[in-house]
Amino acid sequence: MRYDRIVALVVLFGSGCAVSQRAVPTGPVINTISSTAYAPASSAKGKDIDLAWQRANGCGVVPAPALEQYLDGILGKLQNGSPIHNAPAQVHVLASHDWGATTTADANIYVNLGLLDQLESEDEVAAVLAHELVHALRNHNDSDVVEDLQRRAFLLSRIAFEVKDRVDNGGAEKKGSSKPDSLLKNEWYGLQANMRILSPAWNRTQEQEADLLGVDLLAAAGYCTCAMRTVLQKQQEWEKQAAAQPQTTGTDPQLDALVNSLVGNSKNAEAATPNTAPDLKDVGKSILKNIIKSTTTSMASTHPDTAERLRVVAEYSSQYYREAEQRTPAADALKKMRGTKEIKTIFTNYSRAFEAMDKLRDGNAQEAEKLASLGTAGSTAKHSCPAYVLASVRTAQGKQAEAMKLLESTFGSAEPALLTYKEAAKIQMQGGKTKEALALLERANREFKEPPAFFPDLIRAYHKVGRNDDASSAVLRCATKYPRYEDACRQANEDKRSAN
Ligand SMILES: [Zn+2]
Repeated sequence: MRYDRIVALVVLFGSGCAVSQRAVPTGPVINTISSTAYAPASSAKGKDIDLAWQRANGCGVVPAPALEQYLDGILGKLQNGSPIHNAPAQVHVLASHDWGATTTADANIYVNLGLLDQLESEDEVAAVLAHELVHALRNHNDSDVVEDLQRRAFLLSRIAFEVKDRVDNGGAEKKGSSKPDSLLKNEWYGLQANMRILSPAWNRTQEQEADLLGVDLLAAAGYCTCAMRTVLQKQQEWEKQAAAQPQTTGTDPQLDALVNSLVGNSKNAEAATPNTAPDLKDVGKSILKNIIKSTTTSMASTHPDTAERLRVVAEYSSQYYREAEQRTPAADALKKMRGTKEIKTIFTNYSRAFEAMDKLRDGNAQEAEKLASLGTAGSTAKHSCPAYVLASVRTAQGKQAEAMKLLESTFGSAEPALLTYKEAAKIQMQGGKTKEALALLERANREFKEPPAFFPDLIRAYHKVGRNDDASSAVLRCATKYPRYEDACRQANEDKRSAN
């Protein structure tokens, strides 16, 4: 049991996070940064590895060269006005319908298709990219927000597994543990506190710099600085909606697996708010609810306090950018770009595919089939994400052979996604072709450059075919190379052993 460490972490995260008004700087942030060449972040792992791992995440990356070119063009204009020169920043589009954008230590900027879909002018696109570009230019990823979120997810998953054990055992402690239930309850409250205060002070400072230096870059590139505000307003709107309907996004297989292991396939785990001493089953459910929330609102957790950010951005812009505030956002430029056939098809078809996935989850197979078929009509036929969605429909219909064909059509494509390989391996596994399934997983592991989050899947698969030595060496490799994934890997190792 490692509850003590968890409580320590709660205290650490909790301190310095009291809600306070932040001051607007006494001049434009850009004036405080001297002209210099971009220095790569120390945690950079290489652009190709970074991209491969992104393809291994969720529904992967959208193959959209024309869209990327448009976005890179805007990024170039923003970079021209930056005091930090020659950053190898590049934009990629992620196949996700959620609001979100993220920047890695390799200066890759990943923008969700769902976010782009909500924007109304090129200036708003520029505002999103300017904010992300600052994260890259200033090496904010060296205190890695993304990895920190992942670590929190794993921390939670470990607690959830431990709680699940206890729920399964009727509340009894695991052998060898001497912690009474009351302590568990206290720790639960601590965990709740941690979950509610997801905005460490250092993170807020970085976000403010990204917003304000972002405004500076917008102004220098000739865009309306007002776009930073309207984007934040859109984000606020999205956060409200996300909070109103907590549900799994299906973008994190690790968490999906956990959710399934805890509640089977029931879709809406009841919210249990533990304001009085909770019973263990409620604790399990609440943790689950929070894990689900942590995936759907990850943008909110890394970019805390949107209202406060809005206030600071508005004040800053009106103080230093009176002229740039009055510019008219270029709605036509964005409209024109979205009207080109290739890009229009991508927006329309992916949105159908995402909707199909929701219908499938809701058990509406007929509607799901219709939408998923539309999602793969025309140029997106072999795109990994829409093909995966249609394959999921086929699997649900018992048409495994058709699903296999769809999945295989994406292998080695311009933007392969790990989830199509995993789904294909699952079908093979269920059909008794365990060796073929494992071969496919090993191939995926190579092609996606050994993504750390994939280790637990591999470890489970090795156990399934009795290659326990390979499982053990994978656990060791996972622990030494990616210490943050150590627990998930050990857990996968123990799961399988006890199941065998
Ligand atoms: Zn940010």
